[in-house]
Amino acid sequence: MTSSIELADDATRVLIVEDEATIIEFLRVGLRYEGYETVVAMDGTNGLRLAATGDFDLVILDLMLPDLNGMEVCRRLRAAGRDVPVIVLTARAEVADRVAGLKAGADDYLIKPFSFDELLARMSAVLRRRGTGQAATRVQILDLELDAETREVRRGNKRVELTPIEFNLLELLMRHPRRVWTRENLVARVWGYAHTGDTNFIEVHIGHLREKIGDKPPRLIHTVRGVGYTLRPEEYDEGME
Ligand code: CA
Repeated sequence: MTSSIELADDATRVLIVEDEATIIEFLRVGLRYEGYETVVAMDGTNGLRLAATGDFDLVILDLMLPDLNGMEVCRRLRAAGRDVPVIVLTARAEVADRVAGLKAGADDYLIKPFSFDELLARMSAVLRRRGTGQAATRVQILDLELDAETREVRRGNKRVELTPIEFNLLELLMRHPRRVWTRENLVARVWGYAHTGDTNFIEVHIGHLREKIGDKPPRLIHTVRGVGYTLRPEEYDEGME
């Protein structure tokens, strides 16, 4: 692979080969928030053509496609000598196909329905294995440190114990300092599929998170009134304005 891993603004390009509109939207919106660049192909023929261009760092490939199935796309891609990482999406009924899928040269697979975080985790793992990883394992903001691999969090030199949800919330906020998240976006990203309705429970989780990381003024996690939340260290803020 020739992709650069040094530049943070060198967005990872993801090709989505999928024919189901709701899943395409779910992937596009979520990946864009994560800073990935996405291109969609809605059938196997176009998917194969685009994947073979070498313009992508990762391919998300559905198995059931209108023309050429995902397995065949993957097989032909590898036969053409293209080694772009591929994550296959498969329905539960097709799980028996997963071994065949991996034999056809896929790097990993996900069973539908999957949570967005699960996808991100698989993507990071695949990209890391291929040496094209975008997401660093460790994130640090001031004295707050998070290790995505060991799932450990430290504030200063004190270990912070978080629930899985709190950890995922914090990781998301830390990976995008200054980005303002609406409650809906946070729910979609941390809990999985889109949730419409009451999102007040987010406040409870944010409250616990603040307490556990000892977030006293000057705060890291800020409430943006009427919108949602952002993680923004004051010092960082001053330096940026
Ligand atoms: Ca499909």
